[in-house]
Amino acid sequence: MRAMQHSPDLDPSLPATMPIAGHIDPVPVPRPGLVDGVTPREDGRVDLIGLTKKQIAAVFEAAGLDAKAAKLRAKQVFHWLYHRGVTDFEAMTDIAKTMRPWLAERFFIGRPEIVEAQVSTDGTRKWLLRTADGHDFEMVFIPDADRGTLCVSSQVGCTLNCRFCHTGTMRLVRNLTPGEIVGQVMLARDALGEWPKANENRIGTMAGLDFDDEDEDATSDYTADGRLLTNIVMMGMGEPLYNFDNVRDALKLVMDGDGLALSKRRITLSTSGIVPLMARAGEEIGVNLAVSLHAVTKDVRDEIVPINRKYGIEELLQACADYPGSSNARRITFEYVMLKDKNDSDADARELVRLIKQYKLPAKVNLIPFNPWEGAAYECSTPERIRRFSSIVFEAGISAPVRTPRGRDIDAACGQLKTSAEKKSRAELDRLAEEKMAALD
Ligand code: SAH
Ligand code: SF4
Repeated sequence: MRAMQHSPDLDPSLPATMPIAGHIDPVPVPRPGLVDGVTPREDGRVDLIGLTKKQIAAVFEAAGLDAKAAKLRAKQVFHWLYHRGVTDFEAMTDIAKTMRPWLAERFFIGRPEIVEAQVSTDGTRKWLLRTADGHDFEMVFIPDADRGTLCVSSQVGCTLNCRFCHTGTMRLVRNLTPGEIVGQVMLARDALGEWPKANENRIGTMAGLDFDDEDEDATSDYTADGRLLTNIVMMGMGEPLYNFDNVRDALKLVMDGDGLALSKRRITLSTSGIVPLMARAGEEIGVNLAVSLHAVTKDVRDEIVPINRKYGIEELLQACADYPGSSNARRITFEYVMLKDKNDSDADARELVRLIKQYKLPAKVNLIPFNPWEGAAYECSTPERIRRFSSIVFEAGISAPVRTPRGRDIDAACGQLKTSAEKKSRAELDRLAEEKMAALD
């Protein structure tokens, strides 16, 4: 008897749930066994967000369900998670009441933590988010008359060092996981109140709005259903092709017809030009491609997009010409940041046209006014210069809209996703640039 009283988990005077120091779990719960590619949280529970239907079935099986039950439950749970957006197992009404606590003890439905949410006077919203291990990254939602675009991050920081980009002044902290990437889309759906209610597959609030265009896709019922979040661009922090597997897995979840069901035609992946991975992106992900070209001569592109020293303009444009699925209906977007006296001359505009024609690219050009940040070595081109550049490209038959900066009052505009980057001196910036450049060789 005495020995029993020394053993805290057997002491009848202690409440069963009292936290006890040490390794003893007051309510021992058999945890799911290990499944390939799935890492449990610190509390032993497995976060289901970011897992495919198959992986969910595998973790259910590892937790003790037989294969058939695991598959059925995975299908139900997947629907609740990604189609209905529930964050509590208790809400899963077609799952037996007794099974819900069993799930809650072993599994978890996560979202990135919101550190700060801001709304701009123009309706743009920005969220500062935090991973479970304490790294900050950002996500931006940009509403327009005919669409709402979520700008999603793929990495915390970036290994590359485009000289006009603030993220380039950060080191790469780590890749975001599929759960953290798809979690951004889910969080935006939460914030915009866009999950279907019970017995409702479509939201009718804005029905009648014509969400354009060439994007109509027979496999998706997502287009004209009145949601605000209609498009996704992988244009937040990081180089998505350097986090290839996680970005691919996350976007597959975003496109899954049983879940979020966003059409691949409404998703755009932006790359600085990681040539060897571009064909794979087309084959394995199949979304629209945007390429951060930004310059048309070797000298200038070597300077402002240093990955150009590894994969030059010709190679890059050839990879664009070979990109699976590109066509006149699905053109490649070339992003071109307007930097005063650097890349904005008439000759640059003509060379851009010549290159696009030489490679017979179905292309459009997005002209982005440079968003300055403290310590940047560049200035934005004048509005007249941008207009002139745009008209030269346009007159050659290539669409070249100027992207209006959005959310400037909350620092939400392109290349401004910087909250977690501390200020660095010029010398520090130069040192970091050299270091990143050396890593390219
Ligand atoms: N790493 C990817 C995607 C993220 S950046 C890429 O480089 O494509 C999204 C776009 O914003 C890119 O075209 C990038 O070059 C551009 N950008 C970055 N900083 C900018 C700034 N300060 N002003 C304007 N555009 C910027
Ligand atoms: Fe990285 Fe893109 Fe910024 Fe270049 S522009 S540093 S690739 S995030």
